[in-house]
Amino acid sequence: MNAVASLGERQRLALQRPDLLREQGFVGGAWVGGATAFDVTNPATGDVLARPARLGRTEAETAVAAAAAALPAWSARPAKARADILKAWHRLILQHAEDLARLMTAEQGKPLAEARGEVAYAAAFLEWFAEEARRVYGVTIPGHMADKRIVVTHEAVGVVGAITPWNFPAAMITRKVGPALAVGCTVVLKPSELTPLSALALAVLAEEAGLPEGVLNIVMGDAPEIGDVLTTDPRVRKFTFTGSTPVGKMLAARCAGTVKRVSLELGGNAPFLVFDDADLDKAVAGAMASKFRNTGQTCVCANRFYVQAGVYDAFAARLAEAAAALNVGDGLSGPTEQGPLIDERAREKVSTHVADALGGGARVLTGGAAMDGPGAFFEPTVLADVGPGALLCREETFGPVAGLVRFETEAEAIALANDTSAGLAAYVFTRDNARVWRVGGALQYGMVGINTGLISTEVAPFGGVKESGLGREGSLYGVRDYVDTKTLCLEVEPE
Ligand code: ADP
Repeated sequence: MNAVASLGERQRLALQRPDLLREQGFVGGAWVGGATAFDVTNPATGDVLARPARLGRTEAETAVAAAAAALPAWSARPAKARADILKAWHRLILQHAEDLARLMTAEQGKPLAEARGEVAYAAAFLEWFAEEARRVYGVTIPGHMADKRIVVTHEAVGVVGAITPWNFPAAMITRKVGPALAVGCTVVLKPSELTPLSALALAVLAEEAGLPEGVLNIVMGDAPEIGDVLTTDPRVRKFTFTGSTPVGKMLAARCAGTVKRVSLELGGNAPFLVFDDADLDKAVAGAMASKFRNTGQTCVCANRFYVQAGVYDAFAARLAEAAAALNVGDGLSGPTEQGPLIDERAREKVSTHVADALGGGARVLTGGAAMDGPGAFFEPTVLADVGPGALLCREETFGPVAGLVRFETEAEAIALANDTSAGLAAYVFTRDNARVWRVGGALQYGMVGINTGLISTEVAPFGGVKESGLGREGSLYGVRDYVDTKTLCLEVEPE
């Protein structure tokens, strides 16, 4: 691998605004460098794309101080004034959508069409929360005594520490930063070191939109050091994390020391249920969208397919045919529909899950192997006759592998689906209306897609139950995690 960023990689980006590619952090309104740097590589080529500053504890502490200093003035602004800046940021993101999408594909690997979709999705959170900013209504409550009046208001929690993952390098940021800024919080964000370029490009545009200094700060480099500051500094009043379950649990535990508000969006292990009465065209289309989007690297990706015996063979054959037709390649060139996995470690996990399923008697219908050449590519894979105890069913695979398990009865399918510590998303395909309500109600998940494989939108609450997390992002509920409820109890003197 090259020690310095490859000029060829940068030229291939063909950015209209080359200054959107930043290698410095953003602290207190200033772009800050560091003594050392780390590599950001293109997962499709293995080439170094950029060498951002490796920041750590000192910069994180400075960022928290800047966010704390900016808080009083930002939260005191009228909601409309904050919303106007979020709307300007939203417009700038759409204006530079192509550059942002190309940067994202280069650092993350997803096909350009998906990156364009994510940029629009990311911007949509800013627009949505700009609209919500003006509707953070309180209530009045009839007093408990004749001379008492009770008013409830919602106030910004304060400084927010946020840590985001690499699978959605822009949307996971705006989904947190949008509501935080809308209600008057200020933010210190640590993006994933695998994909910091999207975050930094967003910060360039936030600055252009007129966001005051210190309101949004971005620090990346030494994740444990920065994470330590964000989870222990008493000035940070809320911590929000999207990422793996073990890291989320560890960071949430650290937040206990200063009793921070905590939101977690952790791993899923989504079941995908296909009943005999399903529309198979819809089920296959839903499975393709839910399983192979982002190379299977989303927390709501279908992870386990439970298919009723009557349609099992037909569904398996059609899904295998659709998966085999996917164009796999470099997201920046050609008609790519599936990019690489994020890195070699991710590909090893996928290979392990496939080997484990095959060892348990599963059959390969299509794919099944890592692909040669640079980049962590893996064939779109469909396996039949996977045992319910296989790793594919017990752990999040985070890769382009659909493992099919046969079931006979509805009760059996529900029991299999709920037999996990995760509870983020589930999918059900059936044309029986009563079954929709029965199964939809019985599934222990935060989100259930019914006859659809795509459930994410800024207007609906996103989040899980059980070990998949705490809190909800997006929608009217997405505001709640960033406000504290205050009770004003007034005694009215008699005349
Ligand atoms: P994944 O396994 O999908 O990469 P992680 O949970 O490791 O998920 O990463 C999600 C985010 O958590 C990233 O921004 C990563 O840098 C961060 N992270 C990982 N380990 C730590 C840690 N010890 N302290 C703080 N942040 C961490």
